[in-house]
Amino acid sequence: MKAIVIGGGLAGSEAALQIARFGIPVILYEMRPVRMTPAHQTDLLAELVCSNSFKSVEIKNSHGLLKWELKLLGSYLLAGAEKAKVPAGKALAVDRRRFGELVTKMIAENPLIELRREEVTRIPIEPAVLATGPLTSDLLAADLKGLVGEDGLYFYDAIAPIVAGDSIDKSKTFRGSRYGIDESYINCPMDELSYLRFVEELRKGAVYPLHHFESPRYFEGCLPIEELARRGKDTLRFGPLKPVGFDGNYYAIVQLRPEDREGRMYSLVGFQTRLLIPEQRRIFRLIPGLEHARFLRYGAVHRNSYLNSPKHILPTLQLKEKPDLFIAGQLTGTEGYVEAIGTGLLAGINLARLLKGRQPLVPPEETMLGGLIRYITTPNKDFQPMNANFGLLPGGRRREKVKRAIKWMEFWQEELSSL
Ligand SMILES: Cc1cc2nc3c(=O)[nH]c(=O)nc-3n(C[C@H](O)[C@H](O)[C@H](O)COP(=O)(O)OP(=O)(O)OC[C@H]3O[C@@H](n4cnc5c(N)ncnc54)[C@H](O)[C@@H]3O)c2cc1C
Repeated sequence: MKAIVIGGGLAGSEAALQIARFGIPVILYEMRPVRMTPAHQTDLLAELVCSNSFKSVEIKNSHGLLKWELKLLGSYLLAGAEKAKVPAGKALAVDRRRFGELVTKMIAENPLIELRREEVTRIPIEPAVLATGPLTSDLLAADLKGLVGEDGLYFYDAIAPIVAGDSIDKSKTFRGSRYGIDESYINCPMDELSYLRFVEELRKGAVYPLHHFESPRYFEGCLPIEELARRGKDTLRFGPLKPVGFDGNYYAIVQLRPEDREGRMYSLVGFQTRLLIPEQRRIFRLIPGLEHARFLRYGAVHRNSYLNSPKHILPTLQLKEKPDLFIAGQLTGTEGYVEAIGTGLLAGINLARLLKGRQPLVPPEETMLGGLIRYITTPNKDFQPMNANFGLLPGGRRREKVKRAIKWMEFWQEELSSL
């Protein structure tokens, strides 16, 4: 039986190569150059649409750890990235053209992979990996929506920053939700002076330019925080920072919502933003209690198709509605190049296992790949895309988390190769 992979980006190329490694023939569909996305510029597979960096190589860094894990599991794309690398200090940066050419060659020369340059417009009946990315073509997105329902597929990111729970100064904050429902939120109260200064800095903050295909008009219910600040000095105080529902007389309140049961990660409620990353660090640290905050994820607002994964995807990356369809890449609600390669690798291995009559597997949650998968498939009413970060791993200091992840990944890799 042949396997199908749709999308020859980072995730789809890795998935196709992994399936072929199991000796299974693959048809890989890539619509470029017949039909281009608004961001890609070439017909190369695994084209990097923006930065040429795969981030840090240091194992004590979350992306360094994820890369280490994926190399151990035999990632073809990371091997390609090593060959195409350019000097970039502690980061793995590549010559993007050379990287794309190397991946395209790996696929073209693999006798088990047939590359078809066609747009797929329907979810196939056969077992497949779906890896069409943040700019999935409209017809296919509509078909996928038919499968998962109205609330199953999103088309825009509105990501609020996440900070590490242990970096919040609790002496300046208090616990509780509005109207005393429970104690789940951490609240950062502001007086008039600190609020007005905060609004002023937000208004002046430098933002990322819009991509040419993105609309400068935002959904009213999901405006970037700096845009709200520009609308008037009181807009935030009557919006996401309203100080109502608490005992006490506060001028404004920033609420931090827990992102996990253990309280390792907190998101800033209503803080979706296009501010540059250094500006987010500078301005959000003006919030009382966040002066020394460690950011695990930065805010963003950009075009992005992704599934409501906690509702629709199993930790094996199978779609609940069609378990022989594996989802990979940005469509899973992970964010970033290395994350896309990671889910592509897992989806490829699991589809191959399914076709060989074996159980699809879930990586241990102590590893960075496993932590990411656990996050995107754990129930979450306010699901937003996530990148690799140490807040995803069970407790302890960073050094312990790294040691534990290495041990578990080595163990899992052995188990994987013996099964
Ligand atoms: C504009 C933009 C900039 C980004 N910049 C960065 C960055 O700098 N760093 C970072 O880490 N992450 C970035 N990301 C996020 C993400 O990591 C990348 O988009 C990454 O390429 C996702 O990998 P993927 O394999 O899921 O999708 P892609 O790499 O986009 O691959 C999907 C492939 O599917 C094809 N396709 C789509 N629909 C169909 C169809 N119907 N039939 C056949 N083929 C189809 C596309 O042509 C494409 O080749 C960015 C995202 C966007 C949208």
